[in-house]
Amino acid sequence: MNVFSYGGGVQSTAALVLAATGRIDFPVFLFANVGDDSEDPATLDYLEQYAKPYAALHGIQLHELHRVRRDGTRETLYGRLTRPGSRSLPIPVRMSNGAPGTRSCTADFKIRVIGKWLKAHGASADTPATVGIGISLDEIERVNNRRAMPYEQPTYPLLDHDPPLRRHDCQQIIRAAGLPVPPKSACWFCPFRRPSTWAETRRDRPELFARACALEDLLNARRGVLGKDPVYLTRFNQPLATAITAAQHMLPGFDPTDNDALCDNRACFT
Ligand code: SF4
Repeated sequence: MNVFSYGGGVQSTAALVLAATGRIDFPVFLFANVGDDSEDPATLDYLEQYAKPYAALHGIQLHELHRVRRDGTRETLYGRLTRPGSRSLPIPVRMSNGAPGTRSCTADFKIRVIGKWLKAHGASADTPATVGIGISLDEIERVNNRRAMPYEQPTYPLLDHDPPLRRHDCQQIIRAAGLPVPPKSACWFCPFRRPSTWAETRRDRPELFARACALEDLLNARRGVLGKDPVYLTRFNQPLATAITAAQHMLPGFDPTDNDALCDNRACFT
């Protein structure tokens, strides 16, 4: 079984084009949707408008998967975060020193969801599925972060490509296929988002930015009741609304080469 872990971002969309045009052998793409209320709306739009129709046109199966509870209902990451009375903090919120806290979102809403599908379709420790991951040369260090599950054999078609592909190459492959380049894919509230991405969100999508501020407030109101320190969605040890100014006004200390937007193309899968 050859499947590709599709994240809806640049690298995995380039892989979709490579598969659709017979340059790599992945007939099945799996998109673990962490929630329609959690994924960046622009990613979901791209999925519906471009990725699914393109895949269908080229005979590629693109399955959208969701986390389903035992009672059959769907659970979303935003739903888990905001459930009344919840103490759960599954996303990598930034602690007062700016470091990300531990997270369970990737494991619960992506790895297990995809693993369940793979096992239901025959993957096992004896017959592991080959799972393509969309990591490009400019983020090669992420390969080492990824622990393989017993039922899978990870493979990196963009790195195995001759020559290995960079993000820029991926963009060219997508454009050459007549598709627009997708936006970065990650939850709209992900604390791994870069300051520049938050600044663009504040400028271009103020309602979404306001929702992220409200979520941060909710998490901290709950922590306050429990007597715990506040946590933040950025590394600046202050609320999003004051840490991030709109548009191009970058914060002191912002490093444009910082590449920690970990969920682009399911890289938070690592
Ligand atoms: S994008 Fe961020 S918040 Fe969403 S699943 Fe990945 S690490 Fe968690």
